[in-house]
Amino acid sequence: MAVLVKARKSPYRNLLLKKRQELLAMAKGEPEALAFSLKTPDEVEFAIKTVVQHLTAATAELRSQLLKEVESALKRVASGTYGLCEGCGEDITPNRLKAVPWARYCLTCEELRSKN
Ligand SMILES: [Zn+2]
Repeated sequence: MAVLVKARKSPYRNLLLKKRQELLAMAKGEPEALAFSLKTPDEVEFAIKTVVQHLTAATAELRSQLLKEVESALKRVASGTYGLCEGCGEDITPNRLKAVPWARYCLTCEELRSKN
């Protein structure tokens, strides 16, 4: 069982590791980080492209905040709580994790939080 869960979640771990690498490279002003993201599989590429577009307009502060989120998500992968909503404890949908691999909350909780 534990092995199955690990196998199911490992793509997200890889995604997070790549994202962290990319963020760290961008913080240093290395353009290779962008080229790196183009070599990834389609669905991963889409998520990263979206993020890169956001990051292009983002400040260094937002970038370091995102890096913290990514590292926090990696810790959740290690502790086995990755993919669980911190608000309601339910599974975050795979589509949401693909789009936002470091998501802490499911869509419902995220919407509730953004309203408050
Ligand atoms: Zn939730």
